[in-house]
Amino acid sequence: MDVINQVNAIETWYDHHKRDLIFRQTKDPYQIWVSEVMAQQTQIKTMLPYYNRWIEQFPTIESLANGHIEQVLMLWHGLGYYSRARNLKKGAEYVMEYYGGTMPHRYDDLLHIPGIGPYIAAAISSIAYDQPITPIDGNVNRVVARFNAMVQSLGSSTFKKKVVETTTQWMNHAHPSVFAQSLMELGALVCTPKNPKCDHCPLNQWCHGQTDPTDYPKKKIKAKVPVYCYKVTIYECDHQIALVKPPYADHLMEGYYRLPMESMVEPVNTSYTIKHIYSHLIWQLYGQTIKVVDKDPSYIWVDIDTLIHDYPLVIAHKKLLKKLYTHS
Ligand code: SF4
Repeated sequence: MDVINQVNAIETWYDHHKRDLIFRQTKDPYQIWVSEVMAQQTQIKTMLPYYNRWIEQFPTIESLANGHIEQVLMLWHGLGYYSRARNLKKGAEYVMEYYGGTMPHRYDDLLHIPGIGPYIAAAISSIAYDQPITPIDGNVNRVVARFNAMVQSLGSSTFKKKVVETTTQWMNHAHPSVFAQSLMELGALVCTPKNPKCDHCPLNQWCHGQTDPTDYPKKKIKAKVPVYCYKVTIYECDHQIALVKPPYADHLMEGYYRLPMESMVEPVNTSYTIKHIYSHLIWQLYGQTIKVVDKDPSYIWVDIDTLIHDYPLVIAHKKLLKKLYTHS
């Protein structure tokens, strides 16, 4: 019963508070497609004049498919992310070729059109064709995460599953076209990232996250990458540098040679420092040069230029040598 009441509350709220947006007044799948593509990465008030000009110039899929790419890009000029415009044109050509200019009705068929992903396919399916598929974007994720006070981190598979589960329950009792737009609008106007207006929210009597809404959705906590500090000694003799051979105790970059280095607990003041980031750890290197008269035979001695430009030396040490000898 609660689910039905929640859906009614959201749809009623939308009926009273929705913005007067021209692309919300159409059931034309092509126009919905264009509006959703434009609204990605662009604010609604910015995209509106572009949308109007676009629809005036390319009112149908056929007109877009037959239009010149220069004209398409010109109409997009100022919106950025031009691949969106190119994909719209490619998509229109695809619909002309495979569907005779009529957008397919099946969600799975929509996904085959260039530039249409799950979100836009769901927006077209629900808004144009009244199919119970919720378009899930950042706004919807936020509303659902707060509504359920979800502990799952944003983007995780358990998070996505819970959002789909909640929106599907709602959708099963909703008017799909109205509900899809209601949820988007609720996220954009009421359940905003900062300062959500919980007092005016149609979901507030059921919402579990309203005491601390900005705690949701939970961000993924990145594991802290350990930092290892090393003193690296550059022994130089006759324009050659001393190297040590693998294997190494840490087994990192085993096929590559290294300069002699030793672990440090505390950083020291040396002339050359380099920070090198590997996928799972960071090397903080402190270099010092020592000119020697005799070459210690326990090392391999290699010409400096060869080392810098053409030698299997670990990249972090190569960076250190470049800094020292080429000042780059
Ligand atoms: S009550 Fe507040 S936190 Fe909950 S859905 Fe509404 S605006 Fe978002």
